Amino acid sequence: MSVLIFLDQSEGHIKKNSFEAASYGAKVAALLNTSAEGIVLGNVSDDLPSLGAYGLKKIHTLKNEALDNFDDQVYTKIIAETVVATGATVVIFSNNFSGKGIAPRLSARLKAGLVSGAVALPDVANGFVVKKNVFSGKAFANVAVNTDVKIISLNPNSYKPVKTEGTAEIVELNIPIDKARVKVTSVNKIEGEIPLAEAELVISGGRGLKGPENWHLVTDLAKLLGAATACSRAVADADWRPHHEHVGQTGLAIAPNMYFAIGISGAIQHLAGVNRSKVIVVINKDPEAPFFKAADYGIVGDAFEVMPKIVEAVKKIKG
Ligand SMILES: Cc1cc2nc3c(=O)[nH]c(=O)nc-3n(C[C@H](O)[C@H](O)[C@H](O)COP(=O)(O)OP(=O)(O)OC[C@H]3O[C@@H](n4cnc5c(N)ncnc54)[C@H](O)[C@@H]3O)c2cc1C
Repeated sequence: MSVLIFLDQSEGHIKKNSFEAASYGAKVAALLNTSAEGIVLGNVSDDLPSLGAYGLKKIHTLKNEALDNFDDQVYTKIIAETVVATGATVVIFSNNFSGKGIAPRLSARLKAGLVSGAVALPDVANGFVVKKNVFSGKAFANVAVNTDVKIISLNPNSYKPVKTEGTAEIVELNIPIDKARVKVTSVNKIEGEIPLAEAELVISGGRGLKGPENWHLVTDLAKLLGAATACSRAVADADWRPHHEHVGQTGLAIAPNMYFAIGISGAIQHLAGVNRSKVIVVINKDPEAPFFKAADYGIVGDAFEVMPKIVEAVKKIKG
């Protein structure tokens, strides 16, 4: 019996969401009086033993260049075999791109109950009950998992990473790697941008900004704060901004520490993707804009007047 945590990597570096998953998994292990172990696939240049500081006793690795590019089918098989070999009874993923690809496949393969989008630690006092978001974050459900192996995918930014001290033992896996059924022929990485899915600060613009020529109102503040940029679907549909920036029900769902919405009405489909943000700041010239109901801070005003003042104020504070 142990808790196995999938540690996601990109270009040889462990992703931020994996630290959250590791800390969460370590706490689940403590609740179950067992140990937490990680699994990393592909070549990683980060210092893996130091991940013991997140509460991991062991890290299982399979270094092979065939695994450097994420493939959910190939990864699933290796993780499934590791679960069986280690006797893990709980498997944790971040509910990000990789977790969404692997966790359901693993669930089918191991006939294991899956709770996707968990937002809190399981209640182990009465079975194994996990709280998750439902209806695009408008409600919570408490889900009891009854299978021997339980899988949880944790919503990003739902659990604070806890770093203390400790060194993890590295265990090399010896599992045959399946031939991939699909081949990555090229990867076009967007250079110089902060990845939206992992950003702690997000500055976002809507149709209230009137056109792409005014996007400096968003990007000036984003550059100053080291924030990612986002937009409403109406903006992406109008080709003012690329579709990978569109957040909401049909776009990316994010949960940054701060979401700054400029000239966005706050339609329910938009809120569905951003309402898990820790702090929401809204700037809109219409005091009746629905977004104000979801806002922690709001400014009723014209973005064309307000934003330059905010940028100046931030510049002053930053010296
Ligand atoms: C099935 C479905 C799925 C959808 N999925 C999504 C989704 O994932 N994400 C998404 O965003 N939308 C989605 N939509 C669209 C959504 O319903 C809204 O139409 C869209 O979010 C509106 O974008 P907006 O707020 O930028 O534009 P608008 O609704 O046009 O609002 C512009 C806002 O800017 C304000 N404004 C205007 N001028 C200024 C100014 N000078 N200064 C300050 N404020 C100003 C206005 O008061 C207004 O509130 C979906 C719709 C459907 C039907």
